[in-house]
Amino acid sequence: MKYSPKGYRELKEKRRKQALDSIRGIFLKADEAFRASPKIADRLVRRARKLAMKHKIRLPRVYKRRFCKNCYCFLVPSVNCRVRLSGQKVIYFCFGCRKYMRFPYVREKRQRMLQRLENPKTL
Ligand SMILES: [Zn+2]
Repeated sequence: MKYSPKGYRELKEKRRKQALDSIRGIFLKADEAFRASPKIADRLVRRARKLAMKHKIRLPRVYKRRFCKNCYCFLVPSVNCRVRLSGQKVIYFCFGCRKYMRFPYVREKRQRMLQRLENPKTL
């Protein structure tokens, strides 16, 4: 089948949206599956990542924090990972591979500071 460049772009966009929807579904399923068996949840994480790579989409921020960047296991805070704040970062420590992940939250801090400057009374 041949597509005009514009039509192909639209098709890709459509497929990306579908992929994102299924990634959302996969993470919901992983959440449930984790209670029964963490291994199934790990496998679901792998599937979601593969789907994102195939369609060249970035995993949304919320999902990036749900699995370990090193061993790709599904993370549940206080069950198989530790979450700590340090300086301007949120630090996740994976119990499985004993690696740290760091997520900066400078952007959020700056936003709150700007909010405070705009209306100092409310905060
Ligand atoms: Zn890990």
